[in-house]
Parts: sequence; C-alpha cells; structure tokens
Amino acid sequence: MANSIWTIEEFTCPGCSMNYTATREEHVEPHSGHFKCSICSGEVHAWSGKHHFFGWQAVKTRPPVFGRRWAGAGW
Ligand SMILES: [Zn+2]
Repeated sequence: MANSIWTIEEFTCPGCSMNYTATREEHVEPHSGHFKCSICSGEVHAWSGKHHFFGWQAVKTRPPVFGRRWAGAGW
C-alpha cells in the first residue's frame, strides 16, 4: 500500500439521533459492511465500495436529556 488515507466521519443514528464517529479507510478492493446503533439497534450506516469504516465510537458531547431542557444559555 502506497498511502493509507484515514479520515474521520461523523454519522447520526436515524433512530435515536445518537452521534457516532468512524474512521474511514480507503482500500483498493471493495469492502462492505454496516454499523448498528448500540442504543436502538438501528442501522446508522451501511457502506460498500473501495473503503471501509472502523473504530466506531459514540460521541458523548450531547448526553441524553432526562426531563430537563437545555436552558439556552449554554452548559
Ligand atoms: Zn440509535
């Protein structure tokens, strides 16, 4: 492999709006796969082509809100 290009991409679960990041790696050969949300089991992203995604991580910047709305003035 001459160059391996990794880029971080961000995805949002269509089911529960949880945010995830994954590392995209370019490949010479086609790959396919999918990632399911660890919270609602919805399919966050499916891919096929000359790239692969790995290192899925939940983004914890916006935790679930329990009975309280954001005040609007920041944290
Ligand atoms: Zn979800």
